[in-house]
Amino acid sequence: MPTNVAQSGNTANAVTITWTDGAAGTPTERYNVECKIYQASWSSTTMASVTGILRGTQSASVPVNPGTLYTCYVAAYDPAATPAYNPVVSTGIVVSYQNSGTCTGRDLLDPTSYGAPRRCDTAGATREQAEQFEEDQIAVFGKPVSRMTNADIDSNGVLNNFAATVPVCWYLCQATQTLTDSRLAQQLTVMNNAYASAGISFSQLRKLNCRNDRGSGTSSTGYTQWMANLGSNSNIDSGWSYLNSLTSTLGWNDCVTIYSGDWEGTGLLGIAQLGLNTYTMQYNYPTTFPGTGSVSPYNLGATMVHETGHNFSLDHVFNQGCSGLGDGVADTPNGNTNYGCPVGQDSCPSSPGKDAINNFMDYTNDCCMNYFSPQQALAMQANIQSRKPSWVTTPAGSRR
Ligand SMILES: [Zn+2]
Repeated sequence: MPTNVAQSGNTANAVTITWTDGAAGTPTERYNVECKIYQASWSSTTMASVTGILRGTQSASVPVNPGTLYTCYVAAYDPAATPAYNPVVSTGIVVSYQNSGTCTGRDLLDPTSYGAPRRCDTAGATREQAEQFEEDQIAVFGKPVSRMTNADIDSNGVLNNFAATVPVCWYLCQATQTLTDSRLAQQLTVMNNAYASAGISFSQLRKLNCRNDRGSGTSSTGYTQWMANLGSNSNIDSGWSYLNSLTSTLGWNDCVTIYSGDWEGTGLLGIAQLGLNTYTMQYNYPTTFPGTGSVSPYNLGATMVHETGHNFSLDHVFNQGCSGLGDGVADTPNGNTNYGCPVGQDSCPSSPGKDAINNFMDYTNDCCMNYFSPQQALAMQANIQSRKPSWVTTPAGSRR
């Protein structure tokens, strides 16, 4: 039986899978390497594969699509046996295709065009927050997502049965407004693509432009007040405290409130409330939105994807570095903070797996980010279903 199945690297459009097989086989035995698209049903036949590999071969390069998460298996079979195809299949491994092919030129390994590395000011979960997130996960799935195996996910079909639509409220406050309806729509398209594998979609509920529309019940707001209340750009704590209070003043408890305006902090691209609550908010620097955003390599909309992951309870994948279950899920390898798109980076060689540089919850360039892990998706589903059940159209764990 093939064992020690591992991902050993990528080429432009393929992942390399290695394995060992210590069992004595028949001389005619062959291997197939099959990679199912993770987001699809586990019973799906949609997969990338190479077949008929001679016995003795211990690696294969499987053609895959960029930006897609796969689960790969190695199947040993004897084509001369009866029945003809009766494979012995290895344990599956989750494979992320590291999308370096579309992450080139100025974007790759070069955060300097913005002048500073990505900075998100969201702090890691407190012990109390982590416990609450786990309690929500137990309520929805019967156990913390970090203890769910692929078999749990497979047998319950939980990853693919969830659907929710998250209302988004924009609060836009720039001296010169750059976030057009077109750019907001492009940002929501980026969001819907990024969260499709988790069954989460987004739609605009309302929009307020502080320059000309204060909205009902918001007489204390407006551009002058916004700038005054945020205080010094470098004092992120006081500005963030103001945005917390503004959200309750607005009364926007039926959406995730997205603030974007003249408030950068010192290189701050975004900050978010960790986990959904009565009022849920985040701040994104306007030029991180797709369209004509100028903070390359952070101008493709991944900042809102990242901050919204925080809103749905996710920590940074590099939280606590090489020690422990830093981000509360077990399927993002331990690692340190990464910038650019350092393919193959392995910050914690004594821990399994290479850094999750393509994960939306690292600090890499927008074009380098392309997936949430299965357990991250489940954690977000549990947070939404527990805290905002009215947004859920198909509950997690149900059969469709
Ligand atoms: Zn962050």
